[in-house]
Amino acid sequence: MTSADWATKDFYKVLGVSKDASADDIKKAYRKLARANHPDSHPGDKAAEERFKTIAEAYDVVGDPEKRKKYDELRTYGGGFGPFTTGRPGGGGGQPFDVSDLFGGAAGGGGGGGGFSDLFGTVFGGGRTRQQQAPRRGADIETDATISFLDSIEGVTVSLRLSSDAPCPDCNGTGARSGTVPRVCPECDGVGMHAASVGGAFTMNETCPACRGRGLVVDDPCPSCHGAGRGKSSRTIQARIPAGVKDGQRIRLRGKGAGGERGGPHGDLYVNVKVSPHPVFGRKSDNLTVTVPISFDEAALGAEIKVPTLTGAPVTVKIPPGTPNGRTFRVRGKGVQRKDGHKGDLLVTVDVHVPAVLDETAREAVQAYRDATAGSDLRANLLAGGAR
Ligand SMILES: [Zn+2]
Ligand SMILES: [Zn+2]
Repeated sequence: MTSADWATKDFYKVLGVSKDASADDIKKAYRKLARANHPDSHPGDKAAEERFKTIAEAYDVVGDPEKRKKYDELRTYGGGFGPFTTGRPGGGGGQPFDVSDLFGGAAGGGGGGGGFSDLFGTVFGGGRTRQQQAPRRGADIETDATISFLDSIEGVTVSLRLSSDAPCPDCNGTGARSGTVPRVCPECDGVGMHAASVGGAFTMNETCPACRGRGLVVDDPCPSCHGAGRGKSSRTIQARIPAGVKDGQRIRLRGKGAGGERGGPHGDLYVNVKVSPHPVFGRKSDNLTVTVPISFDEAALGAEIKVPTLTGAPVTVKIPPGTPNGRTFRVRGKGVQRKDGHKGDLLVTVDVHVPAVLDETAREAVQAYRDATAGSDLRANLLAGGAR
């Protein structure tokens, strides 16, 4: 017995029941036949053994309401199982149902060699079908997330609402109104492709316009998806944004993408992170930056100033006498903490502040300073260079 026999075999006929026999009738017919042909009652009788296997395999399918339903659906596609292999593997609107469900597990009943698992390989020539039945990894999904500056430094868990393409739940992806099934495209006989003449003796395959390559046409479309068989599903997930993420960084979260098909793994989720700017702090690699105003007397005479940190108490920074405007001081370990434990620094840049208004006392003090430094001309070198 080859598995190819099964493709054309009528399980109802094997059991001697009509196509619309009740589950009870099928069971009775099976029991009667199984008893009559049981190998125990026919020791050494090869023919009886074969008959028994045939009966058991038939009952394994039509005796199981789920499998029977699928088997019946298969048979309504006319001409056998052809459409499933000739359609585009994995493309278009997807399969109306999972063929591997039916044929993968149906061999149990009577043994009979490879049973149904081999069936498709034999009948449909292998490769393509196997590929179509193989588990398929879910799609990758991409989304955006905007987080605060502080969250970008410390890491944060965000709720992300994801929508993805999924089989329409109302028609299970067939595109046909509930209770109906798509039929084989009469234009391309389910192939999904046409041989179109392109002049002379040459022909080219083109996608069948009637079914757009699907190999199936829907007469009575599913009202939910209008026959497309696909719908949007949306879900909310919690995603961990790691500490130290930068604005514009793309984060990959493994296995958080769309679900796989036929037991395939989930795809990945890519999150494009936008970081809102902070009013005080900036970032340069693993270092935080902050600009602090100092007065010109602090710059000239030196000072100890308090500088804020992002997450902790302020730190004291020593400004030495004679500090020019724009000089940057480094406070170690007050920057961004990396995953490996390395900590960046806080870079403090001073901005010498010139008062817009001076009261009388202050004005006199500055005048006294001017008198005390009257001998030096800051621009002497500059002017000497420019004169030439
Ligand atoms: Zn077609
Ligand atoms: Zn639908």
